[in-house]
Amino acid sequence: MATMIIEGDRTKAASGKTYEVHNPATGDVVDEVPAGGPADVDKAAQAAAKAFATWSKLPSNQRREILHKAAQHMLSKVEEIAVLLTREQGKTLLESRLEARRFGENIGWFADLADKIHGQYVRLPDLTTYGLVVRRPIGVCGAIVPWNFPLTLAANKVAPAIAAGNTVVLKPASTTPLATLACIEALIEGGLPEGVVNVVLGQATGEAIVAHPLIRKIALTGSTPTGKKVMAKASETLKKVTLELGGSDPCIVLDDADLEGAARAISVGRFFNCGQQCLSTKRLFVQEGAYDGLMEKLVARASKLKPGNGLDKDSRMGPMHTETQRAEVEAQVKDAIDRGAKVVYGGERPTGSDYDRGWFIQPTILENVPDGARMWTEEVFGPALPVRKIKDLDEGLRLANDTQFGLGSSIWTANMAAAHRAVQELEAGYTWVNSIVIAHDELPFGGTKQSGFGKEHGVEAFLQYTEEKSVVYGGI
Ligand code: NAD
Repeated sequence: MATMIIEGDRTKAASGKTYEVHNPATGDVVDEVPAGGPADVDKAAQAAAKAFATWSKLPSNQRREILHKAAQHMLSKVEEIAVLLTREQGKTLLESRLEARRFGENIGWFADLADKIHGQYVRLPDLTTYGLVVRRPIGVCGAIVPWNFPLTLAANKVAPAIAAGNTVVLKPASTTPLATLACIEALIEGGLPEGVVNVVLGQATGEAIVAHPLIRKIALTGSTPTGKKVMAKASETLKKVTLELGGSDPCIVLDDADLEGAARAISVGRFFNCGQQCLSTKRLFVQEGAYDGLMEKLVARASKLKPGNGLDKDSRMGPMHTETQRAEVEAQVKDAIDRGAKVVYGGERPTGSDYDRGWFIQPTILENVPDGARMWTEEVFGPALPVRKIKDLDEGLRLANDTQFGLGSSIWTANMAAAHRAVQELEAGYTWVNSIVIAHDELPFGGTKQSGFGKEHGVEAFLQYTEEKSVVYGGI
């Protein structure tokens, strides 16, 4: 049985309760884990506060070295962690390997910033004094993570937090705790001091983290409704919050676009991770002259994405993560079809004995999806893509921005003026121009509108795990 990790100890829940983690491809039990609650969060927060006293005072070059060593050790275990991730999450082994590697790389990327915390010297009118602006770590940070990219999204929070000298109470999604535990275990084996990262498990631990008085900042990746609840609760103790929430990213393809490049990017953008991505091409707007050519290429790509158990070598798309998640996407697709949409590819579950026990679904492409359909108004968190023909860029931009969300966006065109206009006018935290939808470590990533606020990735994320303090030195 797996355990939580609190102050380096492998612990059961205070209540003694447990629950099972199931494989989305087979329904088999992968492991039994503790169902933690407020008492466990309290213990973890106390442990993190204790560790903060020493971790935050460590010379920053030592912190950098410790993190690099721990990350290297974790990276030596990518293969076994990837198998665990596929078994609990469902994604293909290729996707799991990429994600497990990203975890270690992300720790390394932020480790390099650990000794580059800069402040300011400020001249003051009284020359017997001067001012400084210094940056200090915040304290204990809570990290709350969803199930779609358990490792990437945990690393996005843990890595900048600990590199800046904070300590963490981390809560994975209740259905995907195992690979995360393995990563943190590997960091500790590789030299990360006990108590710097503590992992609590179970649904009830999220709210307890947000409420806990010792925790000073919350970073949540999750749905928009969860973000609203977390923000409201965090206001009671005035915690800082970073909210990475839902999205419904538009992609505009104009007549002059490189259609091969666009088809590849859209296919990866919509079908990678069985479509369960926050940054993803979720609404496609194609100019009339490019429409038929692009659709042909998209269908050709979708037809190669064989669904299957993520551990099978020939699977190109794992199952959806849960039965509820699949039912939600199927209901959104049905709503579009009932309103008159045409299925261009997929639209059903794959059939055959290989698919009987898991939450499999086909990659799906729909056209003529009418205004008001759920696929346009809601986030579609699965491999189904609504496509719409547009006359020009004006129409594309109007439709693209007609959403409560503002996470990612993209445009494909050879026209620099059109690209420039899209960059200026798309209401989103990220715009890709003629480029595959991949978030880069170097660029701050986060949403606008109801996709949240605050940044992950980049120097910006690192600085958000520090607080500025002004200092006046007198008596000179
Ligand atoms: P979710 O909101 O249901 O859960 C996310 C995490 O929050 C889980 O660990 C959950 O246990 C916890 N949680 C739920 N209610 C809570 C509460 N009241 N207080 C504290 N914690 C609580 O989301 P999900 O279904 O696991 O993930 C899918 C969603 O995440 C989608 O909307 C997706 O777009 C979004 N997402 C966003 C990003 C991004 O970076 N913007 C990335 C990935 C996923």
